[in-house]
Amino acid sequence: MKKLKFGLISLLVLILIAACPGYVYAYNMINPYQVYTYEQMVLDINKLKQEYGDLMEVEIIGQSEFGRDIYAIKIGNGLGTIFINASCHAREHIGTNLTMKMLEYYLYHLKNGTPFEGYDVNYLLSHNKIYFVPMVNPDGVTLVQKGLSAFTPEQQKVIRSVAGKLTDYRKWKANAMGIDLNRQYDVNFGNAVQNPGKPYPWNWPGKYPEQAREAKALADFARRIKPDITISYHASGNVIYYDQWIAPENVKRDITYARLMSRITGYPLAKIGYPTSGGFSPWIRKEFKTIAITPELGKHAGDYPVPVREFNNIWKANKTLGLASAAFNLSDLGVLANSSRRLIEEQERLKAIQDFIDEAAKFTGRLNYYNFVGKVTKEEDIEKIKEALEKLDELRSKPINMQNATAQQKSFIDYVKNTKYTVVVSNGEIKVLTVDNYLSELTDLADDKKVMTLYSGQNKLLLIQE
Ligand SMILES: [Zn+2]
Repeated sequence: MKKLKFGLISLLVLILIAACPGYVYAYNMINPYQVYTYEQMVLDINKLKQEYGDLMEVEIIGQSEFGRDIYAIKIGNGLGTIFINASCHAREHIGTNLTMKMLEYYLYHLKNGTPFEGYDVNYLLSHNKIYFVPMVNPDGVTLVQKGLSAFTPEQQKVIRSVAGKLTDYRKWKANAMGIDLNRQYDVNFGNAVQNPGKPYPWNWPGKYPEQAREAKALADFARRIKPDITISYHASGNVIYYDQWIAPENVKRDITYARLMSRITGYPLAKIGYPTSGGFSPWIRKEFKTIAITPELGKHAGDYPVPVREFNNIWKANKTLGLASAAFNLSDLGVLANSSRRLIEEQERLKAIQDFIDEAAKFTGRLNYYNFVGKVTKEEDIEKIKEALEKLDELRSKPINMQNATAQQKSFIDYVKNTKYTVVVSNGEIKVLTVDNYLSELTDLADDKKVMTLYSGQNKLLLIQE
């Protein structure tokens, strides 16, 4: 009887395993319910890369003082830039568990084209990119998690000299050389409170900004990607710091964003009562005039790492923050976040339209009406396009020459590939179409007109001969 029971249970388990669709594995490649080490992170990044291939770009943006790699992973291809980093302070390494899990879930939904918690991942990541740096301070994290024995004898000597009387390395915050990476940036540098005045497990800002290799790597990376929104995960306290060095013109934007993040996470907003010194988020605000917040993960854990048992709550509160930030970046206020860059883009866009029209005129020689389809949705865009189109009237002199269309098609396809706009050239009024009515409009036109359609990826160009 006992044997039979066991057999039945085994069978049931086998059926359950067989019934699980393949994606269950893919969804759970990363296990955040563990003390998540540097080595585990490197393994997992490689596993994700195998599973998701071109959907993610992996880059090593620098090395720690003791030679560990600092990884950055990019997902998405849009204009907007979200930057999420974690584990700047050694004992706050729970942020790596969170960011790695976030990366996995976003990738999974990106690959499957499915929404995540109501967020349209494909849409948001085609208009934004998210960079993750899951472990800014791998030496420090390793010291907290594994103690001295994870280091060579020479390295241990350095760490011991920094540690002074401290023997419980779980309290460590700085990098292995005793520089506090979140005091290292060029914003009110060197005025840190409780500055120990020498290399120390926490609070020593170093001799000059970006002295530590880790801080330099992160600053160089930020200067390169110019983030619109930066989330720097620390621990603990379940609060979000968001202020200091916000330019006056950005106060409304930054507070609106911070309040939104507060509502999503359930973490109250908090202000530090004194001017901070050398912090990464303040430096981002000062340097780029863009949004930066510092969420503190987990219940107050004193001088120790947040325990793994808190991960569920941390995950629930934070899992959508990257996507919510991407969505905010596309909002009216988010456009402000990047106003100068977007203004340039707008000018480039209009120039691209004009160039396209000029090119199209050379090709066909005689074009009557033009409909623009795609991102163009605003009234003022329509006016600008109409103005640009009027110029084209001057070019309507030569007959349409379709004879060497193949070569021309090629040049058009190349052109369209390099622009973001789908242009429909047709008989009719000048209309600005939305993507939604684009296909039905094409069908209508095709019925009684001689049509040549060119495709380039998702872009279509339709030429209609009179
Ligand atoms: Zn911290």
